[in-house]
Amino acid sequence: MDSIPELVGAVSDYLAQGYLRIKLKIEPGWDIEPVRAVRAEFGADLLLQVDANTAYSLTDAEHLRGLDDFGLLMIEQPLAEDDLRGHAELAKLVRTPLCLDETIGSARDAATAIALGACRIVNVKPARVGGYLEARRIHDVAAANGVPVWCGGMLETGVGRAPNLALAALPGFVLPGDVSASRRFYAEDITEPFVLDDGSLPVPKGPGTGVDVLPDVLRRFTVARRDLYPHR
Ligand SMILES: [Mg+2]
Repeated sequence: MDSIPELVGAVSDYLAQGYLRIKLKIEPGWDIEPVRAVRAEFGADLLLQVDANTAYSLTDAEHLRGLDDFGLLMIEQPLAEDDLRGHAELAKLVRTPLCLDETIGSARDAATAIALGACRIVNVKPARVGGYLEARRIHDVAAANGVPVWCGGMLETGVGRAPNLALAALPGFVLPGDVSASRRFYAEDITEPFVLDDGSLPVPKGPGTGVDVLPDVLRRFTVARRDLYPHR
């Protein structure tokens, strides 16, 4: 968003759609004030968190400490992807829990980050970690350590959204995820659209991922085709 009034308007729209938790993207020059404005407008009960996507360095610790006043669920990935030590140091300097996203590429990464005190929460994105088996292992490692996880998103169509919902239904996923309704990113999805029901999405119950691709819609949106198993 280009301005705080636009941001407050956008948050208001999403809350009206039923979303239960709001995540703001932050960076130097766009952090304390937008968070203050959203907190002031929507009150202390709003589940609110921020994601810095690696935009800060450890020398910003004093500034980031300013976020402690706003009762945030977490600060996500404040420092560089490979800066585990920095996150462990920062975690001692701010009260708000740190969550790691970009840093965690595997269950081993998660185990290391948790052991070093670099995070108290893990964002699990199947597409980031190589798929659902590794995502499940990260969940298991985190759960064994009492660390909550939540399911991130990477603009999935319904093809990815459905298994993300199954993942997010595992018991360690105790924080609201980024698994949004189809209309958050798409005018038309290539599966039946996912629609929010009172702030939640149902886990598909069918075989496999539980959803089918709509062949006609897929045909309309197809721009290229490659046969991965050509006939010899
Ligand atoms: Mg993130």
